[in-house]
Amino acid sequence: MKANLLDFDIEGLAAFCAGLGEKPFRATQLFRWIHQRGEADFSAMTDLAKSLRDKLAVSAHIAAPALLSQHASVDGTIKWLFDVGGGDAVEAVFIPETDRGTLCISSQAGCAVGCRFCSTGHQGFSRNLSTAEIVSQLWFAEHFLRKHLGQSTRVISNVVMMGMGEPLQNYAALIPALRVMLSDHGYGLSRRRVTVSTSGVVPMMDRLAGDCPVALAVSLHAPDDLLRNQLVPLNLKYPLAELLGACERYLAHAPRDFITLEYCMLDGVNDSVEQAQQLVGLLAQYAGGADWCKLNLIPFNPFPASGLLCSPPQQVQAFAQALMAAGLTTTIRKTRGQDIDAACGQLAGDVMDRTRVHERMLNQRTVRVVRGPTARAGAVL
Ligand code: SAH
Ligand code: SF4
Repeated sequence: MKANLLDFDIEGLAAFCAGLGEKPFRATQLFRWIHQRGEADFSAMTDLAKSLRDKLAVSAHIAAPALLSQHASVDGTIKWLFDVGGGDAVEAVFIPETDRGTLCISSQAGCAVGCRFCSTGHQGFSRNLSTAEIVSQLWFAEHFLRKHLGQSTRVISNVVMMGMGEPLQNYAALIPALRVMLSDHGYGLSRRRVTVSTSGVVPMMDRLAGDCPVALAVSLHAPDDLLRNQLVPLNLKYPLAELLGACERYLAHAPRDFITLEYCMLDGVNDSVEQAQQLVGLLAQYAGGADWCKLNLIPFNPFPASGLLCSPPQQVQAFAQALMAAGLTTTIRKTRGQDIDAACGQLAGDVMDRTRVHERMLNQRTVRVVRGPTARAGAVL
């Protein structure tokens, strides 16, 4: 079987080239052709010796998943759906802003964590993506956008692992993919501009700190274990004290001096001012109570099966005010690409659920809580 060169970081490619009897600098040249020039045809790589090109044609290929569809939002956001075979499709989203271009990448076909408010979670889990399937999303998007915009320089400046899947449950494929993104011979992205978002796989957060420390975002969503257990089932395994302890440890390695805490605003579930205050008290217990995190409030993007609603804007404001009054840096995420279902948590791709997460979720009781102080305290999902 031919090796897919999109599966390799630069060390992996050097080892592959060594196997063909080639020197490491050939791997660097090849890597640059693939990632910096977007070239998939060995015969076009004219500064490589003909003998090497011939060997590569026999033993390797550069194969990205087929594009199934592309949708562009009125706000400039572009969503691509890729066919990863076996009935699975995954999505990537490009979000242009004045000072940067961000690509949101998927790490798995579906997700096994099964968060209540996430449409990927509701789809269940099929499989981990390979390194090539993760890297391909960037490879395709970067070179498509350069052509589309008539630009020869880099378009994508930031990558967020916030598409479908839990990246830290696909660690072995994630690490080489991150290294391709960071490599000066690849995409040359700064560690501060590559973000891994996790629902809290504690042991893997520790490993990431050692193996490839990039910016970290942690999906918190609740100020106490009782509620977080219901929203993010992984909390049963790694409760808040362990998760926030892991954040504290990560800070010593992080390329930024803070960790982003994501908090999806769910009407009547986790959005009261009392809960904001509880969150303040919780976060003050870590990292010496210093200014170690930034809260990013994400307005919930509803989808019918969730049975949940987004907090009203004035409630999001009140929640943010309570956090800021206590000195916590807080931002409210602007929703992008909603008209093409490309906003956070709307990425559902098309996944063969092999774990029956979806079925289990349908059988769970979903009682949406009516706004009001007592109801909120007793939120049941
Ligand atoms: N699995 C990882 C990364 C993918 S989800 C994680 O959970 O962190 C990326 C972000 O989108 C997470 O913070 C997640 O909680 C949030 N999200 C999921 N569903 C959402 C929805 N319906 N509306 C708003 N944000 C959502
Ligand atoms: Fe998985 Fe993240 Fe969605 Fe939770 S929010 S189900 S961890 S993708």
